[in-house]
Amino acid sequence: MERYKVVIIGSGPAGHTAALYTARANLEPLVLEGIQPGGQLTTTTEVENFPGFEDGIMGPVLMENMKKQALRFGAKYLSKTVTKVDLKKRPFQIFDESGQQYLAETVIIATGASALYLGLPKEKELIGKGVSACATCDGFFYKNKIVYVVGGGDTAMEEATFLTKFASKVYLVHRRDQFRASKPMQDRVLKNPKIECVLNSTVSELISDSQGLNGVVITNLLTGESKLHKTDGLFMAIGHSPNTRFLQGHVALDEKGFIKTLHGTPETEIPGVFAAGDVQDSYYRQAITAAGSGCQAALRAERYLVEQDIH
Ligand code: NDP
Repeated sequence: MERYKVVIIGSGPAGHTAALYTARANLEPLVLEGIQPGGQLTTTTEVENFPGFEDGIMGPVLMENMKKQALRFGAKYLSKTVTKVDLKKRPFQIFDESGQQYLAETVIIATGASALYLGLPKEKELIGKGVSACATCDGFFYKNKIVYVVGGGDTAMEEATFLTKFASKVYLVHRRDQFRASKPMQDRVLKNPKIECVLNSTVSELISDSQGLNGVVITNLLTGESKLHKTDGLFMAIGHSPNTRFLQGHVALDEKGFIKTLHGTPETEIPGVFAAGDVQDSYYRQAITAAGSGCQAALRAERYLVEQDIH
C-alpha cells in the first residue's frame, strides 16, 4: 500500500495551492480530487478578482492552470472521492469510494463548501435553467429580466445588488422581517430603486416548462397567503454547507460543520491534519483566500514533517 508524506483531499484553489507548495518542497503529494475536480470555480465563468490576471480569467481555466502547475513539480492527482478517514491511527488512513486505502503522514483537507438550496421539488433539475446559487456566475444571462433572490445575509445583499446591473427588477425574498446582513450592505439594498424586499416570505414552489423556470410561488409566512409570480431567474443565497460529512466524529467541526482550526492557522486539533479553503472558512470564501490558506497548510505540513523527522 502506498504511503504518502502529504495527502490533499480536494482540488479547488486551496487544494491545488497546497499541492504546488508541497510538490515544490519535494514532498510528492497525492491529491484526491473529489466529486467536482476544480471545485466551485469550475461552475463560474470569468474570475476578475484573482490577482495577476488583469483581463480576468475563466474559472475552469484558472483551476486547470493551477493543477498543471502543481503537476509540473511532481504532485500526483487521482480522480477519487474520499468517503472515510481514520485520523486516530498513524500514519493516517484515508479511503476512497471504492474502498481503496491511502496512508498519509500528513493530511490537508480542502474539500470546500457547497451552496445550500431550499429543497423544493424540481429545484436541482432547474439548476442552470433559471435556478442558480451564484449571481456572479449567471447574472449576465438575466439582462432586462425579473429575478428573485432568497436570503437575508450578506451574500443575499451582495447578490441582489450585483444583479441590478443586469436585471430590470430584483425581488429579495427573506423569511423574517429583519436581515442578518451588515448594516452597510443592507443600506445599499434598501437604497437601490431596482430592489424590492419581500419580507416574512419564502419561495414555496417552482413553476417551469421545458425551457426552464418561468415562475415562483411566494408564500407569506405570517398570513399563509401564496401568490404566483412570473420570473426567469431565482438565486439562492441562503448560505453554504461545508463538505465535511465524511469527517464527522473524526475532526472537530463547528455547529455548521466547518472544520475548527486553531488560532487562525490551518492546524486542526490533530497534529499533522490541516484544513484549508472554504471547508474551514464561512466568511471570506474567495479563491485568493482559499489559495492563501492552501499555501499556509502546505508550509505547516512541511514543518510538521521536519519536526517529526519524517523524510
Ligand atoms: P448567512 O448564514 O449569513 O445567511 C443566510 C441567510 O439565508 C439568512 O438570512 C437566513 O435566514 C437565510 N436562510 C437560511 N436557510 C434558509 C431557508 N431554508 N429558507 C430561507 N432562508 C434561509 O450566509 P451568507 O452566505 O449570507 O454569509 C456567510 C458569511 O459570509 C457571513 O459571515 C457573511 O457576513 C459573510 N459574507 C461577507 C460578505 C462581505 O462582507 N462582503 C459578502 C458575503 C458573505 P435567517 O436570517 O432567518 O437565519
